[in-house]
Amino acid sequence: MARAPTDDTASADGASAEGVTVASALESARRSLLSQESAALDAQLLLAQALQRSRSWLLAHADATLDSATRDAFAVLLARRVAGEPLAYITGRREFWSLTLAVNNAVLVPRPETELLVERALALLPKAAAWVADLGTGSGAIALALASERPDWQLTAIDQSSAALAVASSNAHELGLSNLQFLTSDWFSSLAGERFDLLVSNPPYIAESDPALLDLALQHEPRTALSSGPEGLDALRVIIAGATTQLLPGGWLLLEHGATQAAAVATMLVAQGFTHVRCHADLAGLPRVTEAQRT
Ligand code: GLN
Repeated sequence: MARAPTDDTASADGASAEGVTVASALESARRSLLSQESAALDAQLLLAQALQRSRSWLLAHADATLDSATRDAFAVLLARRVAGEPLAYITGRREFWSLTLAVNNAVLVPRPETELLVERALALLPKAAAWVADLGTGSGAIALALASERPDWQLTAIDQSSAALAVASSNAHELGLSNLQFLTSDWFSSLAGERFDLLVSNPPYIAESDPALLDLALQHEPRTALSSGPEGLDALRVIIAGATTQLLPGGWLLLEHGATQAAAVATMLVAQGFTHVRCHADLAGLPRVTEAQRT
């Protein structure tokens, strides 16, 4: 366990003789992380964690020297990151929407593009009371963002993984949000007879044969949260079919999907009688979220 330095210098047990400062540790970590997209930022966040200090403390104390316990703790965290483990699993936290969520390897790391789904949900439904379900909630990211923005909504967050639901419900507790319930369910299996104004889902949608699954970062995430069927469409197909009976008339279905799946998703929606099918591009300009109405 890392020890937090007690004053402005992080030096202890003679480590200053070896002269490893915050700045030099960050620089060498950055070099070992060069294959990662955000090497410098990752190095800072990991050293901040090892020191149990904030990033701003680090930046203000570039010349502080590190004691050996901190150097060891930093080396362990850095090795995990070099091996491709998502930073969010190492720090145990991830920002999503306006929330800080706890995450672990039972849940997908919330992605920025999924915030588009939250935006669309808020735009589609007025502020009045509504029944909303999040299918495959994982960390609870979507459900919690909606619950925080719409105190009058009642959210049902389901997942087939009880380990994931434990993360999601603990996040709800930490955030002080009580307008949600959490249910173990294989998609709609525990929701028989229930009808919703809005169904949202970021289901697994990567094709089983997609080489993207070999990506080191994805190897650390739950495969059942990432991939579904030969074309990645199996979960989407089940959700679209089930939504026809689980939505109230006029209710909306909002789905995240792969960048190449918009046409297939639209075809399935139209085949099931949905109208107002519309796809939205994410911040990278990729078709990412499709909405459709049950009329
Ligand atoms: N968007 C994720 C990715 O491409 C996949 C998430 C998902 O399958 N729902 O890494």
